[in-house]
Amino acid sequence: MESSSPATVSAGHGPGPAPADLLRRLRARGAGDPVTHVERVPARAGVPAPWPSWASAELRAAFTRRGVVAPWQHQAQAATLAYEGDHVVVATGTASGKSLAYQLPALATLLADPRATVLYLAPTKALAADQLRAVAALELEGVRPACYDGDTPRAEREWIRRHSRFVLTNPDMLHHGILPGHAQWSGFLRRLAYVVIDECHTYRGVFGSHVAHVLRRLRRQCARFGATPVFVLASATSGDPATAAGRLTGLPVTAVTEDASPRGGVTFALWEPPLLPPDSVAAPPDSSSVPGQAAGDHDDLRQVRRSALRETADLLADTVAEGVRTLAFVRSRKGAEVVAANARRSLDDAVPGLGDRVAAYRGGYLREERRELERALLHGDLLGLASTNALELGVDLVGLDAVLICGYPGTRASLWQQAGRAGRSGQEALAVLVARDDPLDTYLVHHPEAIFGAPVEATVLDPANRYVLAPQLACAAVEAPLTPADLVLFGDGAKEAVDELVAAGALRQRPTGWYWRHRERPEVDLRGEGGAPVCVVESATGRLLGTVDGGSSHFLLHPGAVYLHQGVSYVVDELDLADGCALVHVEEPDWSTHARDVTDLSVVSVRSYVDAGPVGMFLGEVDVTSQVVSYQRRRIATGEVIDTRPLDLPARELRTVAVWFTLSPQSLALAGVQSADVPGALHAAEHAAIGLLPLMATCDRWDIGGLSTAVHADTEAPTVFVYDGHPGGAGFAERAYGTASAWLRATRDAIAECGCETGCPSCVQSPKCGNGNNPLSKPDAIRVLDVVLANLPE
Ligand SMILES: [Zn+2]
Ligand SMILES: [Zn+2]
Repeated sequence: MESSSPATVSAGHGPGPAPADLLRRLRARGAGDPVTHVERVPARAGVPAPWPSWASAELRAAFTRRGVVAPWQHQAQAATLAYEGDHVVVATGTASGKSLAYQLPALATLLADPRATVLYLAPTKALAADQLRAVAALELEGVRPACYDGDTPRAEREWIRRHSRFVLTNPDMLHHGILPGHAQWSGFLRRLAYVVIDECHTYRGVFGSHVAHVLRRLRRQCARFGATPVFVLASATSGDPATAAGRLTGLPVTAVTEDASPRGGVTFALWEPPLLPPDSVAAPPDSSSVPGQAAGDHDDLRQVRRSALRETADLLADTVAEGVRTLAFVRSRKGAEVVAANARRSLDDAVPGLGDRVAAYRGGYLREERRELERALLHGDLLGLASTNALELGVDLVGLDAVLICGYPGTRASLWQQAGRAGRSGQEALAVLVARDDPLDTYLVHHPEAIFGAPVEATVLDPANRYVLAPQLACAAVEAPLTPADLVLFGDGAKEAVDELVAAGALRQRPTGWYWRHRERPEVDLRGEGGAPVCVVESATGRLLGTVDGGSSHFLLHPGAVYLHQGVSYVVDELDLADGCALVHVEEPDWSTHARDVTDLSVVSVRSYVDAGPVGMFLGEVDVTSQVVSYQRRRIATGEVIDTRPLDLPARELRTVAVWFTLSPQSLALAGVQSADVPGALHAAEHAAIGLLPLMATCDRWDIGGLSTAVHADTEAPTVFVYDGHPGGAGFAERAYGTASAWLRATRDAIAECGCETGCPSCVQSPKCGNGNNPLSKPDAIRVLDVVLANLPE
């Protein structure tokens, strides 16, 4: 939830130590200085604005009763644009009150026009439920807000369709329920004045591309009933939000990005855990009992830095001991529990009982439990909380004295959302990013300009992906026959996709349009990516826990995999691919599992290329064949590899989009790369390039795959491929191609500046390498990238 007003309640807790003093004491603790950079983010005074003249006295009074004295300038600006009929996206920081920007015009319109309706979309049910409470609390006559999602009882659904004028739902329900049932919704859709899309930056990649077409289907149904609703979008701070919102909705969207809410100053430190002395590195555990285990496999991933989890736990204990209210963000739930447990232990060692003031927080808690933890932390009964990113969506916890971020959360947008929990108006706070042992984190703590000087990432989605477009057009055709005008609405590639559907016998062309030929609706899962979903079933009870899309099932549900579902840990006993189900039992081992695959790739077509003498840079379609062949078990607390176990799963095909570069063998020889070292050089460059791509696009390295080879059959040259791990592509490779020189320069610098000798997880080793990180040549990878950068135009 966003606090939405200058009158936001702040915690009743006295000032702690000044952040600069606190940081000085934290960094003086160990031997060397772990802090690589300190940035002062200055305080900002809020800029209030008058209530817009079109907001009625009744509406203003309702907000004033809820503590909103006046809007901030960005809220008023976005609200007025929307009220005047412009599609608008408001993209500002955590707790900047984005909800007021859409509530104001939407509710003003509902009050002024007793027939008008509003549709609100959130990425999660929990967020929609929070928003429902906020709207209901305004107690406005005749609005009758209601959630309509998978949990809504059948008995209430008809009432909501007929009487609610502010319906809160999610894109999945719009896709599966509301649009197919448009006849029942015709009264609502006919009068639709606003569509609100909250947290719209979460609609990225393949999921985002699906949602983009669900919104086009919504616009199409509205148009059939004569309605042209205004779209109001709320986004976390993101790069070029107008373009991303335009791609998502298919409409011209105006962006409001100037955050006028007040903010306390933050001292932001970048923290790199120290290298462990070589003799203290744990020897790899004995793996002789595992058949098929490659000798020496473990040495490659041996840990060389102190783990970010341990470092974060120590920092949490230290800040709590100073009486500082601290929130630590940790990527996994188990990791959050490890951090909390270690911090509690060291506090209890120092002062028995002090450990009780630290807790772990995770998704899956009941709302009341979450509220109680938040209350305890805001009031200072609790001083330290270790949390997963569950807090990022829909929880009102801001104004802390310190925030520790264990590992880069993947995007600058998320980083600022997390850091934004620190500091309240008029008070200074501390934020610390603790680097994990991987290339991106290492690069960032040595390149503060990539965090503090760079705009946040653009949200990437590709509505022209034909693997998304064709099934979405099929859904649209079921809802109403497609017409030539619809092809314009659905955009690039729509005509080709319709032709394909006709050729496949799914659509039939008649004089009045293209008709769906089957009785059943097409099965399309917005969050899946092709392939029938695999059901996850608890063996003991036969209970269906959930489904995993076919594309991820080999990675997530192989026998022996640890599978997390709503905070509960299960271990997979059996993956039955024929029946599409995985049998699991409840178990919480202290290791995590990481599947590894081997890959083959062939080029299908080239979309675009740059001929740069001895270097070529390409974007095109490729066929990838991959097979999950083994998995590693790793200790959660330390990341230490326990063993690698073989798997027997079939190979799978993926047609997707890749970016690749080639080098002439002569240029490599001239640069001093011996021919025997070419495979290791390319492989190391590939790993680091994958690790650094999230700097350019909103993806993480798990969304992307890579392949490198000294001679590729299709390019006939030494080649490094990086491809989208989603059928049809998700826009990541395209983005990499568009920013190639900046991307590969950052990759080169990350490798060159890593303090290790022969390569480590902070530079060229990859946790998901199918070849056990072998061969890898760190110095030659730098030479490869130098050749590319010397020839490639900026
Ligand atoms: Zn390294
Ligand atoms: Zn590899």
